[in-house]
Amino acid sequence: MPASASPEIDRLIGLLAKLPGMGPRSARRAALALLKRREQLMQPLAEALSAAAEKVKPCSTCGALDTRDPCAICADPTRDRTLICVVEEVGALWAMERGGAYRGLYHVLGGLLSALDGMGPDQLRIGELTARARQGEAREAILALPATVDGQTTAHYLAERLAPSGVQVTSLARGVPVGGELDWLDDGTIAQALRARRPA
Ligand SMILES: [Zn+2]
Repeated sequence: MPASASPEIDRLIGLLAKLPGMGPRSARRAALALLKRREQLMQPLAEALSAAAEKVKPCSTCGALDTRDPCAICADPTRDRTLICVVEEVGALWAMERGGAYRGLYHVLGGLLSALDGMGPDQLRIGELTARARQGEAREAILALPATVDGQTTAHYLAERLAPSGVQVTSLARGVPVGGELDWLDDGTIAQALRARRPA
């Protein structure tokens, strides 16, 4: 059912409604806000979207999103290269960075192992992680995965796969609520969970 009188506006609303956290009603509100604030909001947003679509790519080392490869974190000489924090998605990496308590490197898996969703080890960046553990300066892999069934299945699998490399495998402590997604947490909780990590 068309939301407005114009196919262009309907298309805008339809695309906005596909964003996480948006439904048809919030998509209509967002579209209206954009259309009303063409100069201040809509055009800068269109430019930002276009620049991001063109320039932002996953880092070939860690999987973070950046305009350069290796990304700013991998290229930062002040980062502790003995630590690799393993996260499900880039959102969790951003959450860790917001906390500011962590100064090591990252590895983005791109998902979790899940029998239900048909996610196997080959669909995740696990081979890349074991290669980094074998070749690099890494001494510890910190598993910052959700406290869900899939998160814990993935953590156990990674601990086994990383064992031959000799890298110590730890997990974030459970200041993290069960079923909690990392990017919903406040910065203090993440910092505390990071300090209280334990062998996986
Ligand atoms: Zn990187």
